[in-house]
Amino acid sequence: MNDQLTIALSKGRIYKDTLPLLEAAGIEPLEDPSKSRKLILPTNQDNVRLLIVRATDAPTYVAHGAADIGVAGKDVLMEAPTDNLFELLDLHIAKCKLMVAGPENEKPHGHRLKVATKYLKSAQAYYAEKGEQVDLIKLYGSMEIAPLIDLADRIVDLVDTGNTLKANGLVPLEHIADISSRLIVNQHAYKTKFAQINHIVEEFKKAVEK
Ligand code: AMP
Repeated sequence: MNDQLTIALSKGRIYKDTLPLLEAAGIEPLEDPSKSRKLILPTNQDNVRLLIVRATDAPTYVAHGAADIGVAGKDVLMEAPTDNLFELLDLHIAKCKLMVAGPENEKPHGHRLKVATKYLKSAQAYYAEKGEQVDLIKLYGSMEIAPLIDLADRIVDLVDTGNTLKANGLVPLEHIADISSRLIVNQHAYKTKFAQINHIVEEFKKAVEK
């Protein structure tokens, strides 16, 4: 029987906030990803390992079964194909908001609104729901620049403290969604490794509710 369990996590905020949950489930990494260059980290449990992946790749690893479970932001899940995976638990970590933002003193624009974003699917769904026709421009980062140099009128981006917007003369205008990280599970692994995965789910659940 293959009882090896692989957990996909991204470095940074998600890793830091997931660590206490893993500990609650008795899982302790043997190396610190902020210090190690290793991307596959062993843990105190011989049959449990961590994969350190790009945040946007976590659902892909889990959907393909390369990882059995993982942690991914709702923002990432809203953009990714989510066939073959279950979103089992809201972990209430890495919280922020997906918002429309624009210049503080927005000039009236005589054209169709141009919106720059990394979150194309979410933005598309949001404006479709509002019945508003906009031109979406896909960017991969530093979206805040777009309205400053007239690439776009507005942006759709994640907002936490609002400091990044403020530093670039932008203000939040419309709330699209509350974002937090979710525990995702490969559908096949959830059946074949049920006891192992369910133990983690239950321990995470207790730790989240504390
Ligand atoms: P802030 O300046 O605190 O509003 O943070 C905004 C910047 O941090 C944006 O560029 C976001 O892309 C990023 N950010 C904030 N919260 C999160 C989160 N929970 N997950 C990923 N990125 C985030």
